[in-house]
Amino acid sequence: MNITIVGTGYVGLVTGTTLAELGNTVYCVDIDAKKVEAMKQGSVPIYEPGLEEMFLRNIQAQRLFFTTELKEALEESEVIYLALPTPPGEDGSADLSYVLSVSNQIGELLTDYKVIVNKSTVPVGTADKVRETIAAKTKIPFDVVSNPEFLREGFAVEDSMNPARVIVGSESERAKEIIAKIYQPFTNTGIPIIFMDEKSSELTKYASNSFLAVKITFMNEIANYCEKVGADVDKVRLGMGSDDRIGHRFLFPGIGYGGSCFPKDVKALIKSGKQEDFDFQILEATENVNQAQKVILVSEIEKYFGGNLQGKKIAVWGLAFKANTDDIREASSLDNIEKLLEKGATISAYDAIAEENVRKLLGDKIAYSKDMYSALENADCLLIATEWSEFKNPNFEIMAEKMNNKAIFDGRNMFPLEQIEDKGFFYKSIGRKTLG
Ligand code: NAD
Repeated sequence: MNITIVGTGYVGLVTGTTLAELGNTVYCVDIDAKKVEAMKQGSVPIYEPGLEEMFLRNIQAQRLFFTTELKEALEESEVIYLALPTPPGEDGSADLSYVLSVSNQIGELLTDYKVIVNKSTVPVGTADKVRETIAAKTKIPFDVVSNPEFLREGFAVEDSMNPARVIVGSESERAKEIIAKIYQPFTNTGIPIIFMDEKSSELTKYASNSFLAVKITFMNEIANYCEKVGADVDKVRLGMGSDDRIGHRFLFPGIGYGGSCFPKDVKALIKSGKQEDFDFQILEATENVNQAQKVILVSEIEKYFGGNLQGKKIAVWGLAFKANTDDIREASSLDNIEKLLEKGATISAYDAIAEENVRKLLGDKIAYSKDMYSALENADCLLIATEWSEFKNPNFEIMAEKMNNKAIFDGRNMFPLEQIEDKGFFYKSIGRKTLG
């Protein structure tokens, strides 16, 4: 099948590449001309494990093309995927201007029947808005389908090639047949497509992300309480997770969730609720708890230094919002860095993958190190903000030699207490006994 993808970010580029890998011819459209030019030259604009190889293979096989011209791509395609940003507007609601402006363009360019598949995360009722926007410009028949995306950054290729399920919201038999054909390689291997109405499909995405945000936040509160009463969250986590109604995943406490999805989707669902006079109390609490959790270690660092961080050099390991991505949107590292700088500390940061994005944002407000150990040179303490694998088993002797002061504030509980307890460090993690 010939497919257009509009928007080549984490979702669009990965979706486009995997659809090409499944044998379709895919035209990726983006308004960012520099990005399009780079992709044409074979350069992948984001970090996503396994993507580059698949991307180059499909360009080589002439199944994957890039353009800034929506018209060109549309002429070739039967199906158009929207993978456009839906960032939080000023009031927290999802900003639909990208989705609706492209819908408007599609309405103007339509020459024959097409299926418009929305992969962006959008509030209930957006499929109707997209339909109305296109229909205002054309009499040519078309269908709009909701097909929310569940990929995880860092595992995006794996998730796109082997999704747990595909959700499709549509009442059009014609569109459903076309979508079923695209996803036939999945259904062949037993991956379910769950068909439903558009509104339920749109809400499934928000409900899923919000549920995960609640699960993480619940565990963070349990962790904070563990510290008050002398319980160990590692033990509690294992005990709870062994109940298969709960499961082990998303029970790891830390300095809060960030990223381009959970924070914005929780906000947007709260806002959508308000528009219907409905209070998502549990989500409001989740948001507040998470905001405080992100910087919970700043006050611990301050306490450790007797309330004064002026001139303290703080090493930060990890800048990405989570491991295996270069995405720094709403990353906890940034909240911590901002607060620490405000309090007069200096920062030497290390993140091999996300550094470039942080440089664009913070420039020389902080120093960047080429490896994890040089970030520790004369540092007064270390803050671990991202759970990159390379931090899991560090050489504590080298660390001790480099640091002014052997203190670690671990926002991602990287080390079992047994691994570090005889190393002579002050070690503060989340929900566990403080060492040293
Ligand atoms: P992104 O910001 O990484 O990428 C969006 C792309 O769209 C950018 O390349 C931008 O240049 C392009 N764009 C903007 N306006 C355009 C226009 N008018 N025409 C063509 N291209 C345009 O976004 P993302 O992270 O891929 O997210 C896209 C959507 O998918 C959002 O709604 C998000 O909530 C949802 N989503 C994201 C993830 C994730 O992990 N990132 C997972 C599931 C769902």
